[in-house]
This record gives sequence, C-alpha cells and structure tokens, in this order.
Amino acid sequence: MAESVVGAIDVSVVRALYGNSPSLNLSSKKIREVPKCVSRLTKLSVLLLNNNCITSLPAELLSLQHLTQLNLGNNSLKEVPAALGHLESLKKLYLFSNQITVVPPEVIDGLHNLVVLNLNHNKIQSLPLEIKSLMKLEHLSVLDNKLEELPAELGHLSKLSEINLTSNRLCCLPQQLCQCKDLTKLHVARNKLTSLPEGITALEKLQVVDVAGNKLSVFPVEFHRLPLKELYCEGNRFVQCEPVQSEQDAEVLTLKELVARFVLWEDRNRVSLVHRMLPHYPCLSALLANGSCCALCQGPFLTTWLECVHFVNLRKDMKVRSSLTIPVRAVLCSYKCFNTEGHCYYGVATR
Ligand SMILES: [Zn+2]
Repeated sequence: MAESVVGAIDVSVVRALYGNSPSLNLSSKKIREVPKCVSRLTKLSVLLLNNNCITSLPAELLSLQHLTQLNLGNNSLKEVPAALGHLESLKKLYLFSNQITVVPPEVIDGLHNLVVLNLNHNKIQSLPLEIKSLMKLEHLSVLDNKLEELPAELGHLSKLSEINLTSNRLCCLPQQLCQCKDLTKLHVARNKLTSLPEGITALEKLQVVDVAGNKLSVFPVEFHRLPLKELYCEGNRFVQCEPVQSEQDAEVLTLKELVARFVLWEDRNRVSLVHRMLPHYPCLSALLANGSCCALCQGPFLTTWLECVHFVNLRKDMKVRSSLTIPVRAVLCSYKCFNTEGHCYYGVATR
C-alpha cells in the first residue's frame, strides 16, 4: 500500500475514533488489508469499504458489535468472510462485484438481523439452507451469479419483499417461495426456467414480475388474477394460439380417480359423513390435498386432467401496461367439459 494511502486511512480512522463518529468511509482507497485499528471503533454503525482490493477481513472486526451497515462491494473477496458471522447487529450487507464462490452456512447463521443482502455479480452456485435464519430479510439480491437451484428454506423468509435472481442458471423456483407472502417484486429474468410454481397466485402482494428470457411455455393456473403492475416476459417459449386438428382418446378413468373425485365432492359438503371422517385418515387427506379443480365445471379431480391454456391480454385482462397476450395454464376435468360450447380454453398440443 502506498504511504500516502496508509496515511489517509489512518487520518480517517483517528478522526472517526476521536470524533466518536458513527460512520467511517474508506471506499476507493486502494486498500488490500483492512487496518486492524478499525476494530477499535466499537461505536461504528456504518462502514464503507467498497471499491478497494480487499481479499479478507481481520478477525478483530468482530468487535464492531454496533455495525448495522457494511459495504464490501467491488473488492476481491473469494468467500463471504467468517468475521461477518459475528456481526449480529448488521442490517445491510453489500458484497456485490467480488469473486465469491462460497457462502458459508455458519456466517449466514449469525446474521439474524439482516434486512438487505446484496450478493450481485459474484460466482455463487448455491445458497446454504441456513438462509432460513435470516428471518428479517426483506431484500435479497443475487443478480448475475451461477445459481443452479435455490434452497426450499427460502420459504421461511416471511418478511421477504424483493428478490432479484436475474442472470443465473435456475431451471425452477422452489414451491416454498410461494410462502413468502410479503413478496412484492420477483426478478428472475435470464435464467432457464421452464415453469413457475403453481402456488404463485398465493403471493397476493406481488406487483412486479420479471421472467423475460427464460424457457416458459405457459403461466401457472389463475396467474392472471395476480394484481400485478408490471410483467416482463419477452423472450420465452410460450405456446402459440395456432389451433390444430387433434384426436380425442376414449376417456377411461381409473377406479382410484373415480373414488377420489367422489370423496373430494363429498368433502365439500360440511355436513357429509366423508367431510367429518376424513381428518381421521391423514394419509388419505394428504393424497387428496394434491387434488385440483376444473376450470369449467369447478368439479374436483386428482390425477387425471386435460392440460389447457387460455390467452390473457395483459392490458385488457390484467391492467398491465403491455400489448402482449400470454398463455395461462388451465386444467379441465374431462372431455365432456372440454367439448362444451362457448369457452375459451385450448388443449395444448405436443409436436
Ligand atoms: Zn369439468
């Protein structure tokens, strides 16, 4: 480190020490190693170390027990430093634009108060299951990394409001993401998604969805009911509305399906014997929980359905500012329903 730079850092630290300042700005000072004297600033709440050449953090930093914001963006870290796991007061942690490949579980486990976590522009392949410890997390950004899958434990983050997973390698999103009921923004553009979780319509606060540049063929059932303000979905592989002639196979339901449909019907009647007895058969209840409902007759079914889509105009039907029309998945219980007149559901042809 050049003498003048060291001098400038020392002056900053001494000034912060004697001024009892709650913040210290050491950004863009060509720092390779964080001076250990920084650890004497025990009252510090904001520490800016972005735009340097830092490769590791000294263990002494764990004395900064009042630190709420730490910016380590644009450095040369290869993993999330172990010392961070002891900074329990941290609310905002920025680690963007490093070379991080590993997010150690024990570090994440110690960051209970984190509200903002920014890991953009790194080389992270997976997030640890311990991410469920971040119960106060509202903003998670892992844009431009190498994520191939997400842990189901993301579903524990009940405060999560924004998640940005743009430019990764995700083929699917965990169903459990639909438990994050406070989610307002979902950015998953430029991944390899072939489908979105069917439960996504449970996210009633969702306002922005960006799924552009994936491999989606349809949107999940009832997707058009979401109160979205913005939807970006260009560059996918959506099924086209090009009607083709098709043959209808004879419809023979299995005994299991017939019984399941009967039980599901009966279960809707609160005074029926089936409805009262079903709670005593947890295995059967669990099986029937996978049942669904016909888009036309609203009749229940378990495992046999007709895969259909209807086409939704974003401007007219969803009040979203876009001229696009999207295919939304719908399932019908039978050819009997499919063959009735006056509906707008199309069977999906596979070529
Ligand atoms: Zn039906």
